[in-house]
Amino acid sequence: MLNHDHQQALLQWYDEHQRALPWRQTNDPWHILLSEILLQQTQVSRGLVYWQRMVETFPTIASMADAPVDTVLKAWEGAGYYSRARRLHALSQRIMLPRAEGGFDGRLPSTYDELLSLPGIGPYTAAAVASIAFGQSVACVDGNIRRVMARQTAQPEPTPKAVQAWADASLEAVRPGDWNQALMELGATVCTPKRVGCSRCPVSSSCQGRSTPERYPLPKQQRTKAVIMTAMVDHDAQGRPVLKQRPLSGLFGGLWGPVYEEGRREEGAAYIEAGVVNHQLSHRSMTVHVLVGTSAVGETGTEPSAVACSTLDEKVLTMALQRLLEGRS
Ligand code: SF4
Repeated sequence: MLNHDHQQALLQWYDEHQRALPWRQTNDPWHILLSEILLQQTQVSRGLVYWQRMVETFPTIASMADAPVDTVLKAWEGAGYYSRARRLHALSQRIMLPRAEGGFDGRLPSTYDELLSLPGIGPYTAAAVASIAFGQSVACVDGNIRRVMARQTAQPEPTPKAVQAWADASLEAVRPGDWNQALMELGATVCTPKRVGCSRCPVSSSCQGRSTPERYPLPKQQRTKAVIMTAMVDHDAQGRPVLKQRPLSGLFGGLWGPVYEEGRREEGAAYIEAGVVNHQLSHRSMTVHVLVGTSAVGETGTEPSAVACSTLDEKVLTMALQRLLEGRS
């Protein structure tokens, strides 16, 4: 664990070296929650753009609760992991309910346990929001903190329980929100996976792994599944693709896109081949064969910019449209 002197050294370093991020300049718990949900699986540089968009589109919890889920998905478009947007919408509606109906009378709850009871909020987000927005003494654990802990204690494979215990024991109780952010900032900017900046580290004197930091922690085995699909993109007479909204649960739930089939389907009388789109998701490596066809009589297309589409669908639709235009020229 980090003792009092190390805590003060790290907090002082954080005060002097933290990146100027807009969610660090606000006390609004809703805006802080939006940043934490966005940054779970999105890089900070991209998170900045989406956070600004979400805060402007939904400045309050009520404004999101009143909006259809489609509007939330449209604002989230491009940020990926769309289940986060759907759960955020469910969370806003739950908060707006009266307490008698299981809600929170329109106010974001301030305790770890209450936050944890909300849709889409796991232990990390509950601890981050409780400490940063409400000053509660709870320790966060994320990938950055795990890496700092593994190196500080020279453990190649610390268990989640051990990391949480270290974070709990190291927590600085006077400024818990700043403390959690300082540890994460250290992991994001100094104690990084590669090119570790031990000479700039404010807590190097307590670090047992600083002579060989790259040894800690061992990389986690990530299994990626190869998926082959065929997208059949029908177009109407105006050249607009026929898009369907997907069910709310499942991959790209609630988003709009063309029909996909598993496996590879060859071109034939109804479809011509446009090409192949390769797309990487966290656990899936997708190869999508794109076929272009004509919509059934009476079936109208949809302007893709008017609905929420995933990045994969945008790539597929661009390729299909290009092929359609080539065929017509
Ligand atoms: S001394 Fe190096 S390895 Fe240890 S916590 Fe600091 S940056 Fe990480």
